[in-house]
Amino acid sequence: MKKPYLFALIASVLALVTECVYPTVFIQWIVPLYAVCIAVMAAAAFLLFYALFTAKGSRKPALKALIGAAAYLAVLMALTPVVNNVIFGSVAPWGSVLVNALFNLVFWLVMLRLIRRASGEPFKWKPLVCLILVLAGVPVTILTTVPNMKATGFIVLDTVKNYEARMDKIDIYQNTMETAVPQTQVYDIIMEHLEAPLPAGKTEKKVLVLGWDGCRADAMCLAENRQAVDLLLADGGSAYIAYCGGANYPAPLKQVTATIEGWTTMFTGMWGDGHGITGFDSVNTAQTHTFFTAAIEQGLIDSSAFCFSWSGHLTTYGEEMEYDEANNVNVSWLYSDGEEGGDGDEGTYQKALAELQKTDCPDLLFTVFEYCDYYGHTYGFWGETPEYIEAFRRSNEKGVSLIEAVKARPTYETEDWLILITSDHGGYVRGHGGDTLMERMMFIVTNKAW
Ligand SMILES: [Zn+2]
Repeated sequence: MKKPYLFALIASVLALVTECVYPTVFIQWIVPLYAVCIAVMAAAAFLLFYALFTAKGSRKPALKALIGAAAYLAVLMALTPVVNNVIFGSVAPWGSVLVNALFNLVFWLVMLRLIRRASGEPFKWKPLVCLILVLAGVPVTILTTVPNMKATGFIVLDTVKNYEARMDKIDIYQNTMETAVPQTQVYDIIMEHLEAPLPAGKTEKKVLVLGWDGCRADAMCLAENRQAVDLLLADGGSAYIAYCGGANYPAPLKQVTATIEGWTTMFTGMWGDGHGITGFDSVNTAQTHTFFTAAIEQGLIDSSAFCFSWSGHLTTYGEEMEYDEANNVNVSWLYSDGEEGGDGDEGTYQKALAELQKTDCPDLLFTVFEYCDYYGHTYGFWGETPEYIEAFRRSNEKGVSLIEAVKARPTYETEDWLILITSDHGGYVRGHGGDTLMERMMFIVTNKAW
């Protein structure tokens, strides 16, 4: 009965090779290679089970091994985040890598023992080599994880505790996370501004919104990169912690913490159960037109503009764009085709700037910058990640420039400007959509007290 150990040996080689590349692939989040790694791990598990069932002399060992490999994969996928969460209090990428390696080590040792028992083979070189290969995976994992942690700035854990500590350090918010206001407040603030009577000496209502896609509320602790926000606060404004997802943390999510849901909630004043925009292919209808169209039809404003570079908005508001075109509603849907976080955002900035320099600029000008979301998805939504800090800095830089463009308008003194900065959702590790505190908290900053 030498065959079982041959399969076990191949499986152990595959496991060690995977351990060499997996930490890099996972921490640097190289998606195609990640899929390959998972496939190789499943194949190795299949070989181990196949070795066991062959040693036992079972019938249909391949079928049984296939079921075993599927179970292994299911347990691995379920266990990694759960155990990681218990140990570290968060889904730290390197924590996932270590938990994964630990699980594989235990799994391999148990399987090798079972194979040895079933095969009755004495302890010769093959099982010994298997054992050495598997044990070698531990130092290999650590040696490949550490430099990747350093490279990606993932050393500091993004735990709830750390998040709360960061939020505590921020002195600009007028409320706490427990008393966070709903995201729908963005809509209410804008509509109340437009509906309120003009102050003395003012002849026109104006609104500029700086939307920072995927900007976390705790990014505000980066005080040296917060100039746009500080400008609004210096003008007598206020900053509040807000929540997305339909309910405040830790209540269960009512809608995912994602882009389409978030912006549409701000554009309509409704959560997903009201506006019905709950996915990439959702298209809004006449009943759920955004305030870009609705505020004009209500006679509150003459014109509006939406500057964006994320093509998803073209689908979501496609029907409304056609409606505006057909009915001569004065909404400018200003899409900039280009890399989000790169020339796409530059296009958004240039288009918004050009609008603000027009004598008769849109009464409601809404911009969405993708910097934070783009760099968050690529490098991690972490306040300690250099790329995320840079994304926040760029968002502020463009914001300052647009705020200055407002103040430089020749008619600025007679215009009643509401300037608002907000985000659609937070982020966690390399994504968002879930119900962690980090994803659900966002912020609303305005140049007026409320
Ligand atoms: Zn987003």
